[in-house]
Amino acid sequence: MTSSFFPPHRTLMGPGPSDVSARVLGALSRPTIGHLDPLFVQLMDEIKGLLQYAFQTENALTLPVSAPGSAGMEACFVNLVSPGDKVIVCQNGVFGGRMQENVERCGATAIMVQDEWGHPVSLDKVAQAFADHPDASLLAFVHAETSTGVRSDAEALCALAREHNALSIVDAVTSLGGIELKVDEWGADAVYSGTQKCLSCVPGISPVTFSPAAVERIQGREHKVQSWFLDMKLVMGYWGGSSKRAYHHTAPVNDLYALHESLVMLQEEGLEAAFARHLHNHRALVAGLEAMGLSMAVAEAYRLPQLNAVNIPEGVDDAGVRTTLLNDFNLEIGAGLGALAGKTWRIGLMGFASNERNVLACLTALEAVLA
Ligand code: PLP
Repeated sequence: MTSSFFPPHRTLMGPGPSDVSARVLGALSRPTIGHLDPLFVQLMDEIKGLLQYAFQTENALTLPVSAPGSAGMEACFVNLVSPGDKVIVCQNGVFGGRMQENVERCGATAIMVQDEWGHPVSLDKVAQAFADHPDASLLAFVHAETSTGVRSDAEALCALAREHNALSIVDAVTSLGGIELKVDEWGADAVYSGTQKCLSCVPGISPVTFSPAAVERIQGREHKVQSWFLDMKLVMGYWGGSSKRAYHHTAPVNDLYALHESLVMLQEEGLEAAFARHLHNHRALVAGLEAMGLSMAVAEAYRLPQLNAVNIPEGVDDAGVRTTLLNDFNLEIGAGLGALAGKTWRIGLMGFASNERNVLACLTALEAVLA
């Protein structure tokens, strides 16, 4: 007989998922109701309003896609990219590469703008790409590169896209709730995120928002969106403005209770206070790491407070340290990804997990393991 699964209580300080609070876990375990129940429809409206707050937008098409961040990414690409389009894709880490895949699978051409991993997207290179390809219809980039711990200038990149009559697709999986993200003020057109990072909710949902210009492009498509599930014209029937919701798919009811709770918590704290908390704990962690003789992999100006990339000292067994932290301290930190595998550790201080107790627990454990 297989018995029930009882996971240990870990402290999640990797690149996500982050620690989920007891309050959010409590919401998850409330009774399941029908996904077209009038009370659930009311909850959906509240989630939409809370997401608009988190994204700082009035976009009517703002909703949680019932699938992880990669599905939010795909939802943006399949709805906005048509066969034959040219899309400028910025890559300075793992996730720009995933964007390229999406563009090519839509039958479009990806014009790649490459930057060194650990550095932000270069505005000059993007301007040059637009000069070389004035017919590019979209600019796609990652705001907070989780694979490297780097923040790119989303405001300036969105402005560049506008200047060249292109729409912007912004990956905000790791930025939402952790650092400033002003969708309307910056003029971002399609933005997707994930619930498992700075929202500290359970993984598996992807908040997205589309500007009126993006909606216009979706409405004017000549080619059918190749994904039935992610076709926003169909999803709008369920998540749209009207109180008459048509069945599209069965929403992950309890996951949405959890998302609602995590967004209520964000609203209670306030966005500015949440950003300040992330920055405060990041600074404390960096001070402690540097006092131990460790160095940060990313220049201070571009560091993400929620994802700290640390250089692994010469001769230290990367996997051995992480395994000891997990087994002896119940502490998860992340390995380097892609080009940075074996070179960096990624220490997350995301959402609920960004607190002083975690900073101290991580520093104490690392010091003990590296001694
Ligand atoms: N984009 C970024 C920047 C991410 O960090 C991640 C996940 O870590 C994703 C996209 C994909 O999200 P998910 O793993 O939820 O599909």
